Amino acid sequence: MSSQKLKIGILGATGIVGQNYIKLLINHPWFDIVDLAASPNSAGKSYEEAVKDKWQMSTNIPEKIKGLIVRDVQDYKNLPSDLDFVFSAVNMPSKDQIKEVELNYAKNDIPVVSNNSAHRSSPDVPMIIGEINHNHTDIIGIQKKLRGLSKGFIVVKPNCSIQSYMTPIYALKEAGYEVNKLIVTTLQAVSGAGYPGVSSLDMIDNIVPYIGSEEEKTENEPLKIFGTIGENGIINSTSIEISATCTRVPVNDGHTACTSIKFKDKIPERDEIIDIWRNFKSLPQKLNLPFAPIQPIIYLDKIDRPQPKKDRDNDKGMAVTVGRLRKDNIFDYKFIGLSHNTIRGAAGGAILNAEILKVKGFFE
Ligand code: NAP
Repeated sequence: MSSQKLKIGILGATGIVGQNYIKLLINHPWFDIVDLAASPNSAGKSYEEAVKDKWQMSTNIPEKIKGLIVRDVQDYKNLPSDLDFVFSAVNMPSKDQIKEVELNYAKNDIPVVSNNSAHRSSPDVPMIIGEINHNHTDIIGIQKKLRGLSKGFIVVKPNCSIQSYMTPIYALKEAGYEVNKLIVTTLQAVSGAGYPGVSSLDMIDNIVPYIGSEEEKTENEPLKIFGTIGENGIINSTSIEISATCTRVPVNDGHTACTSIKFKDKIPERDEIIDIWRNFKSLPQKLNLPFAPIQPIIYLDKIDRPQPKKDRDNDKGMAVTVGRLRKDNIFDYKFIGLSHNTIRGAAGGAILNAEILKVKGFFE
């Protein structure tokens, strides 16, 4: 029954990630969308009117959402009094503005489950991939204490391509095979740049070999995900060195990652690696959470896979699909990982994080 569900809001509801939230959450068993917010340009309009020229989903706007009036993200006076938490996916002129907005919601006793990069490097803000570091929710108490928060807090998810290679690497680490060097080249879809994103003339028949700040995120965020809990938050791991090249390619959805790895000491056989990946399960699977992929890592034997068009939607867009595991002439192995950037890498990944937070009692 809808009345028993948690009441949630979406900040940045009119953007690409916001639209994905609406599509993915409309029938969610635990969460009910009651509030939509975006920029002052959209504020005061019905949702249908606000997105009339930019709705990008393959399904229609759900009937119950069309008539909701969009609120300005910074209009705190008209916040519904009974919001349980918000998902945040806003693009604002500066990261400091996003940081401030998210903190203001937390100060208003509204937990924030974010897609934005603004708080990713704050040590007291957990940055979570559900299958890897769900235990980092343990620092929420530290965050509340340091920032004087009561019911509100901020949790983020990492950059949209990271799970494509870090989940396979984590599965190997869990099995006793630690990777300590990684070279990754990402081929990132245009939807990763939001709407309207990169111009069609720049993108068709082309590859853009640079995405602002993306290589820094790709090299640094995994260190926090593999980090340990200290007195003031997460202490970044020093166990892995990463070198990244990030490119934008003319693909709608689905970020591909060509990855070479070197093991710290023991090197597993190829068949064993594939076996580890195919059998990997973590907390979201054990808890059978609504958005958990049944098999978080799908390994495909076919030599020409994974491909974005054919594999990005595996397990409702929540699985990481991997293929082409082979020997590397310089490192130990190389493989190709793929995941859906706006689902697993954005809205879906954050929904999974919210499900973990709910089960752990953080919204009570
Ligand atoms: P987008 O399509 O450009 O949407 C941006 C959203 O932010 C819109 O709802 C927009 O509202 C709102 N906004 C813009 N300026 C604002 C302002 N001054 N005040 C309040 N709201 C404002 O971007 P997106 O791709 O959805 O990305 C949103 C966030 O998620 C970004 O931080 C991005 O880095 C992150 N992210 C994106 C992806 C991806 O694959 N796209 C993946 C992971 C993380 P209006 O429509 O009213 O302008």
